[in-house]
Amino acid sequence: MLVVKKFGGTSVANKERIFNVAKRCIEDYQKGNDVVVVLSAMGKQTDVLLEMANDINPKASKRELDMLLTTGEQTSVALMAMAMQSLNVPAISLNAFQVAMHTSSVAGNARLKKIDTERIQHELEQKKIVIVTGFQGVSQYDDYTTLGRGGSDTTAVALAAALRADSCEIYTDVDGVYTADPRIVKDAKKLDEITYDEMLELASLGAGVLHNRSVEMAKKYGVQLVVRSSLNTSEGTVVKEEVKMEKMLVSGVACDKNVARIAVVGLEDQPGVAFKLFRHLANHNVNVDMILQSIGRDNSKDISFTVTGDMADVAVETVERHRSGSLKCQDVKVKKDVAKVSIVGAGMQSNPGVAARMFEALYSANVNIQQISTSEIRVTVLIDREDTDRAMNAVHKEFDF
Ligand code: ASP
Ligand code: MG
Repeated sequence: MLVVKKFGGTSVANKERIFNVAKRCIEDYQKGNDVVVVLSAMGKQTDVLLEMANDINPKASKRELDMLLTTGEQTSVALMAMAMQSLNVPAISLNAFQVAMHTSSVAGNARLKKIDTERIQHELEQKKIVIVTGFQGVSQYDDYTTLGRGGSDTTAVALAAALRADSCEIYTDVDGVYTADPRIVKDAKKLDEITYDEMLELASLGAGVLHNRSVEMAKKYGVQLVVRSSLNTSEGTVVKEEVKMEKMLVSGVACDKNVARIAVVGLEDQPGVAFKLFRHLANHNVNVDMILQSIGRDNSKDISFTVTGDMADVAVETVERHRSGSLKCQDVKVKKDVAKVSIVGAGMQSNPGVAARMFEALYSANVNIQQISTSEIRVTVLIDREDTDRAMNAVHKEFDF
């Protein structure tokens, strides 16, 4: 068996934890498995490096930032190899260059294109545990790149796919994927299984357990994932295409507090208005999420949409800039104290009434809904941010996990 095991920053934060991870990997190795380990930087090292950069030059170029950040993962893999060697187990650390993990050239947010497997395969044949840096790659110009915050998960899944691994285990500081954030909902429960699609909805809603692109990649290449704790031996959550059991009506409740709502009021009710609005926003790299357009009246209409909190000002400035030109409107309003609460479940496709139950729970908790959006397996409401925890608990209780 070939296993890929990925450990996050908290799992390798100090000497004791490094040895704990080393021992877990060695156990697998001694069963006769080929073991490939992917590591994040130790503890909060990536943040520490970013602060150092900011201190020297707040406008540091992305290229140099990537050059700096890649040292975090390089430190943890080298120390891990040393730990394993001190336990008399042959191990070798490899960075993105040595493996050759080819990515696009977008510094800070590069995409993996191709992974060469020869070097890793060669080291496995020599019966070594191979420890690979997560989060980093190499561009076509031979510059280091990084895959975006949390990107080590994606490195692990990509490696598992490229090596046709038999399993891909993502170790973290929680026991698996929960029906809600246990810090907000006290009786949240750990899920045994979840589908890729549900996980994708939850990841993008800010459930935070897995890097979004890692789930996309796992789905694309059919890599079954296990999310489990590095601190205990509990079973974790399996992420896969189809779950064995009857599909859960609702698998989880998630929230996202990093949201702002922009309302563009009194636009002309004509073809092309939505196109112009969202084209201008796209040109300024504003990612838009929930969109709502009112029905036209007196030749005018309103469009509102949500963006991430940090993009609210850019979005408003963009609209303001075009008000006297191609985007005539009466008013632009921004509301920054909002949040999204969502339910996700593959089972809702074939069961009516799921949305109604969510709305009733919110009504009973006296939570006002400002906007609604849905996908086949998700219902999202926009509410006042101060209502978030109350809403989460009410909805979670309704679906009785
Ligand atoms: N060390 C990187 C980060 O903090 C990558 C990762 O942990 O996955 O974002
Ligand atoms: Mg992570």
